[in-house]
Amino acid sequence: MKISEYFFYTSKEAPASAEIASHKLMLQAGFVAQSSSGIYTWLPLGLKVLNKVANIIRDEQAKQGIIEILMPTIQSANLWLESNRYDSYGAELLRFKDRRGQEMLYGPTNEEMMTDIFRKYVKTYKDLPKIIHHIQWKFRDEIRPRFGVMRGREFLMEDAYSFDLSFEEAKRTYDKIFKMYIKIFKRMGLTPIPVQADSGAIGGNMSHEFQILADTGESTLYYDKEILNITDENDFLKIKDLYAVTDEKYDPAQAKGKVLSSSRGIEVGHIFYFGTKYTESMHAKVIGKDGNSLYPFMGSYGIGVSRLVGAIIEAFHDEKGMIWPIPVAPFDVALIELASKSDEVQAFTEELYSDLMNNNIDVIYDDRKNVSNGSKFNDMDLIGIPFQIIIGNKYATDKTVEVKVRKTGERIDFNSKEALLKYLSSELNKN
Ligand code: ATP
Ligand code: MG
Repeated sequence: MKISEYFFYTSKEAPASAEIASHKLMLQAGFVAQSSSGIYTWLPLGLKVLNKVANIIRDEQAKQGIIEILMPTIQSANLWLESNRYDSYGAELLRFKDRRGQEMLYGPTNEEMMTDIFRKYVKTYKDLPKIIHHIQWKFRDEIRPRFGVMRGREFLMEDAYSFDLSFEEAKRTYDKIFKMYIKIFKRMGLTPIPVQADSGAIGGNMSHEFQILADTGESTLYYDKEILNITDENDFLKIKDLYAVTDEKYDPAQAKGKVLSSSRGIEVGHIFYFGTKYTESMHAKVIGKDGNSLYPFMGSYGIGVSRLVGAIIEAFHDEKGMIWPIPVAPFDVALIELASKSDEVQAFTEELYSDLMNNNIDVIYDDRKNVSNGSKFNDMDLIGIPFQIIIGNKYATDKTVEVKVRKTGERIDFNSKEALLKYLSSELNKN
């Protein structure tokens, strides 16, 4: 993508109204534009990250056999009257009437609608277990929308719903999703800390919040340091037995004898087992093996897709701007053409641009003619593309091309295009 043909608008200064790095940087770098309180337009760079985050989640769910559907944003109030949540949900629920006077709402979550779909189609134990997910916009009329996309009113959530025939099977599903969540967040370069959000009493509810470490997080976490040492996928479930809580649940007696770390955290996901709460209230029964009908055991599992974009910036930025982990970066490589009087430099840059694209490297090419070299460097640091290829005087004098690694600031010279392409391909495919 050539910047001269793109929708690329950065500002020199962060807006004064934004309080935290991710909010400031997303506005300054033109990733989102605020539309009204807690409601945002996703501009091209932001949308690329949002889609990459969603696709990592999609990919891991597919690997676990979790099936994707797409439910609407607008729901009928009737479903919520059945589950008895219509009144209890409170002012976060955006309610309105259509022209026929029917009470409708903008979905803040989809347990009711999913249970409704389930009861329409699934009638027998033979069809279970089933886990179904979707990625859809939600609306919650938050009392204090803030921090940009981190606490929006309209936000993108990935939510999954599981149906099992027994508590034991539902617990296995819960554990499978617990492991998958850790993998999902690690793929985005994050360090997830699953904190216990419910007692986990036998047969009762189970719940974990997935927090990621960042100084600006809304919660304070106390967690067993050992969590950080578990890196082998086969061991992810072991994390469940290690101590990790948010401050309001911190209990010195329980924590006794453990080496704990304390950090701020951002909640990026939440998993919940609640048994037959919705299947019972909404009469979603299936015929069991013995011929008697039963209420399937449910869990629901949510990831804040749009919140994650902000959370990743909170975890990875410096005074110059964003520092994207490769798997979620808006582009792999920024190609920066510095002001040059030499036609040769320009011809080479154009040629390299094509070569990068032909090698499936997603490149943003700063070909702007009316922008100073300094502003180009600042902009590319601001938007945090993992690798910058700088083509300027060094190319004119001795055919050298420089690569700057955004994360480390390391600079590497290349004397041949082949060596450069080989380096980039291998770095980009490490993930
Ligand atoms: P919080 O305590 O932050 O309000 P929650 O417990 O209400 O979160 P859930 O209902 O569990 O959130 O929703 C699942 C996920 O959706 C959360 O873990 C979070 O990542 C995301 N999420 C929830 N509310 C918002 C919001 N207002 N803006 C952006 N993302 C949100
Ligand atoms: Mg909430």
